[in-house]
Amino acid sequence: MDQKRKFLGVNFDCCKVYARIYLNPEGTAYKGMCPRCGKRLEIKVGPGGTSSRFFTAR
Ligand SMILES: [Zn+2]
Repeated sequence: MDQKRKFLGVNFDCCKVYARIYLNPEGTAYKGMCPRCGKRLEIKVGPGGTSSRFFTAR
């Protein structure tokens, strides 16, 4: 419960809202969805992935 989970702050361009998406258990991708419309988002981690902490989802 108290475990720190890595997350990314994402601006969902679809609804102009900010939300956090969390690293999956495998540590391979950040996954989440838009809090308003439910649009799914996945950002892969690692080579060719990203090290940025903030995103705008389009
Ligand atoms: Zn949305």
